[in-house]
Amino acid sequence: MADKPDERKITPRSQDFAAWYNDVILRAELADYSPVRGCIVFRPDGFAIWEALRDELDRRIKKTGARNAYFPLFIPQSFLEKEAQHVKGFAPEVAVVTRGGGKELEEPLVVRPTSETIINYFFAQWIHSHRDLPMMINQWCNIVRWEMRTRLFLRTAEFLWQEGHTAHATREEAERETLMILDLYRAFCEDFLAIPVLAGRKSAAERFPGADETYTVEGLMGDGRALQCGTSHFLGQNFARVFEIRYLDEQNRLQNPWQTSWGVSTRLLGAIVMAHGDDQGLRIPPAIAATQAVIVPIWRKPEERDHVLAAARAALERLERAGVRARVDERDGVTPGFKFNDWEMRGVPLRIEIGPRDVASGEVLAARRDLPAGQNKSKLKMESIAEHTPALLNEVQRSLYEQAKHTRESETRQFSDYQKLRAQMEGEGGGGFADVYWCGNPACETKIREETRATCRAIPLDQAGPSGKCIACGESASERAFLAKAY
Ligand SMILES: [Zn+2]
Repeated sequence: MADKPDERKITPRSQDFAAWYNDVILRAELADYSPVRGCIVFRPDGFAIWEALRDELDRRIKKTGARNAYFPLFIPQSFLEKEAQHVKGFAPEVAVVTRGGGKELEEPLVVRPTSETIINYFFAQWIHSHRDLPMMINQWCNIVRWEMRTRLFLRTAEFLWQEGHTAHATREEAERETLMILDLYRAFCEDFLAIPVLAGRKSAAERFPGADETYTVEGLMGDGRALQCGTSHFLGQNFARVFEIRYLDEQNRLQNPWQTSWGVSTRLLGAIVMAHGDDQGLRIPPAIAATQAVIVPIWRKPEERDHVLAAARAALERLERAGVRARVDERDGVTPGFKFNDWEMRGVPLRIEIGPRDVASGEVLAARRDLPAGQNKSKLKMESIAEHTPALLNEVQRSLYEQAKHTRESETRQFSDYQKLRAQMEGEGGGGFADVYWCGNPACETKIREETRATCRAIPLDQAGPSGKCIACGESASERAFLAKAY
């Protein structure tokens, strides 16, 4: 058996992060480029991660009381123009359909860049009384934003997401919903995707167009750059006013409801690649891995083949009965070494090796993807493989989270000296999170962005500490903020 002819090797992560990122996604067959610039194809291995993520998040969202619905892809252009900030924010990246059925349309149609306008148009027709509230809708759909600089998963002209839209009788209830979803996203990223995130408020400059307040969960990627992993917006009554959503309260007075919207997108696939991957390729957390364990049968002499394959298939059956998503790599014509590297590159959390000697001793060798070679192997008894493998997968999930958390902690630094902050952001790598006092003045934010390329990623919600001096202007500042260069 010979290795396949040299397939294109992936660039090591430590050598060139951006090249590594593209190589890994293409070679692991998560996605491919489309003939239309900025659009991508989600291949089955990439889409399977999205499905796992979507199914779990959908379950959690439904538990909050929101229900799924579907609104049209095309939105009358006039809808987008109703909310001044909203149109200003989205106009540059909106795709517009002007022809249909061979003729000019009377009113151009916008391809949804987000659905606040169309959904609120319907909320105005469906909400009449306090008894209609809260109204809580979630939609899974595609979105189009004409991006100039695109990047696989992170920034694409068309992407997939969920968008929640809710309307409530009181300001307090809508604010509570906004923060409850923020915490739902935090927990989802941390315990399902194994990505630790900072939760906080956005600065005015980073706010969603049309929102009173935007909250975010931000992860730190392997190169020290931040990635926004989800946002939750408190919309106040802005959309309720322009779309004339009104209800009669218990005293028979006409009121505008208070609203929220919130979403996460296929960007999270990029987060999974960048938060966990290493020089060898992907490392997929077991919770979202389409294949959690791959069984590689090993034999040299033809007469060993049948025994080994039979043991591999028996192991598969036991694992499947235990609810483990497993498969046997029965490919002929490639060496076990080639298979090891291939599954390692694809990020499968656990590899189970079975050779003739293992068959004889009733054992298998388990190799974890989360630990370096030399520390990652252990023997499992064939008869108890069904009990031990799920525990081992939990261990891998926990360890990937701990490693990502360790990276974030070692890449988070407090600064009180502006020049030191600047030097950090100008240095090698992404720069990590800078934890600083910031006065909140947009002028200081602009100065920081222009001189260091770092932006305000999140202002933590609990500001327990004393006040200090703004990193940029030296005036007194009551809040700490996390700055970083971001995707
Ligand atoms: Zn300042």
